[in-house]
Amino acid sequence: MNQCTHLDQIKEVTPSSMVGCSDCMDSGGRWVHLRMCLICGRVGCCDSSPSRHASKHAAAEAHPIASSFEPDEEWSWCYIDEVALLIETIPHPHHQPYDTDDPIHDAATVALRETRRGLVAP
Ligand SMILES: [Zn+2]
Ligand SMILES: [Zn+2]
Ligand SMILES: [Zn+2]
Repeated sequence: MNQCTHLDQIKEVTPSSMVGCSDCMDSGGRWVHLRMCLICGRVGCCDSSPSRHASKHAAAEAHPIASSFEPDEEWSWCYIDEVALLIETIPHPHHQPYDTDDPIHDAATVALRETRRGLVAP
């Protein structure tokens, strides 16, 4: 099994979005699951998503490690070593829950839901 040699690159990061893939929301795209870059906090979509922004970001920026941004998932992944990691010493933020179990999320729907949430008093 591969060993990851990039753990020293992990930084304390702020997610670039709490609700969806930042690149998909810019372009109106769709995503399935979300990953967060542990070097800069960029939130991107997983390899099951049409645009695979998380792995594209990792390759483009040479940021090797991302962690799952899904609720109840605490694993991380090194794109260079292709190894799953469980890093207990870092915070694992998660995206805000969607109102539906639909595995495909698109930017327009999420934006609409966020707007509705803002309009409805608690
Ligand atoms: Zn690594
Ligand atoms: Zn995306
Ligand atoms: Zn990054």
